[in-house]
Amino acid sequence: MCQAHSSDSGLPLRSGSGRYYVWTVGCQMNFADSRRLSELLEGRGYCEAATADEADLVVLNTCVVRQSAEERVLGRLSALKGLKEQRPEVRLAVMGCLVGVEPEGPLSLGERFPYVDFWLPPSAHERLLDHLDAIGPAATLPSPVSRYVTIMQGCNNFCSYCIVPYRRGREQSRPPTDIRREMEDLAAHGAREITLLGQNVDSYGRGLLGEPTLADLLHQVHDVDGIERLRFLTNHPKDLSDGLIRAVASLRKVCEHIELPLQSGSNEVLRRMNRRYTREQYLDLVERIRAEIPGVSLATDVIVGYPGETHEQFLQTLTLLDQVGYTAIHIACYSPREGTAAALLPDDVPEEVKDERRRAVEEVLERHSAALNRAFLGQRVEVLFEERTRGKWRGRTRTNRLVFVDNNTDLRGRLLPVEITWTGPWSMQARLAENEGV
Ligand code: SF4
Repeated sequence: MCQAHSSDSGLPLRSGSGRYYVWTVGCQMNFADSRRLSELLEGRGYCEAATADEADLVVLNTCVVRQSAEERVLGRLSALKGLKEQRPEVRLAVMGCLVGVEPEGPLSLGERFPYVDFWLPPSAHERLLDHLDAIGPAATLPSPVSRYVTIMQGCNNFCSYCIVPYRRGREQSRPPTDIRREMEDLAAHGAREITLLGQNVDSYGRGLLGEPTLADLLHQVHDVDGIERLRFLTNHPKDLSDGLIRAVASLRKVCEHIELPLQSGSNEVLRRMNRRYTREQYLDLVERIRAEIPGVSLATDVIVGYPGETHEQFLQTLTLLDQVGYTAIHIACYSPREGTAAALLPDDVPEEVKDERRRAVEEVLERHSAALNRAFLGQRVEVLFEERTRGKWRGRTRTNRLVFVDNNTDLRGRLLPVEITWTGPWSMQARLAENEGV
């Protein structure tokens, strides 16, 4: 189940959504690398596919320490040729120790497997993500219904654990006219929902002529024909203005769902992370959002096990999460990132403690998510249907809750009222509301 909806935890800007499949051979390092890659991809909105055949991005994480492992990799690579022929839009990446080692024979790897899109050395997750960025959302998004549009790149914030400002540089916003043009083009190709993307999307517009804000941009693109829903991510709590809250509350197409990365509930940890807000300011912001936007759902990011995080400091995070009640929490166990300020600190929270803290956060999330979904039971809500998976139509509510409906009609791209018949923590089931004529 893909639970990652926001990724301000130092993860790079997401470039698309789709299904990924990672196949791994080799040592524990390789498996750990694959897990990390999965987290990064989910942080960008990708969901895991059960098989390579169902994926839009297939990654082989390879090992050549043993001859047998190398042979398995080469066999698997040959087998993927058929998939690429059937679905040329599938992206195929090979990473790990096979890359850079030329197997015996007259042909190089690139010549032997010309249908591989990316060859990457071990642990080169960022390079893969950069490649996906370079291809752009249009090429990476399989669902024509819900699309992403990057409205800015880079970040000026220098959170201590994050590499983005060094890698992506300072904030650069795209002019509203460019963004609108891209949205019109996507709408012409079937998009009904657009998510505006940026590392720090609520500081959009600095440096542009007239310095339009994100609220201004939402007003300017609100009437793009064919687009029925607008979302944006991800925000920095210090930059989320009352004007933006009012725009969400007043613009019909802007969905009442806000991603608000917390990272920590401890003022001391927040200070050391250089987040530039306190837990009190964060909670005050949550209160203002809830007062202005009825029924709003909130999602967040947290990092557990930041250097020096004590048990008490972690409990402050946990109590805040419990107090707010989120529908999604993207949890990152801290790991140092070379080149960042935090990497100079001792990574002194043991891995098993980080793991315990992660599980405690998951437990809070599951409890709240289940209760928030339960409140929908028997209710009528509007769902935008995206695709059919395992015989059921999958869609989302305005508050970004996943809904499945058993129906044989083609519902792709349709915005329909449904009645919720079953709820769990991660999804709900529903039937089309009566008199919908489908
Ligand atoms: S606000 Fe900028 S520096 Fe901080 S985590 Fe997000 S991208 Fe990284």
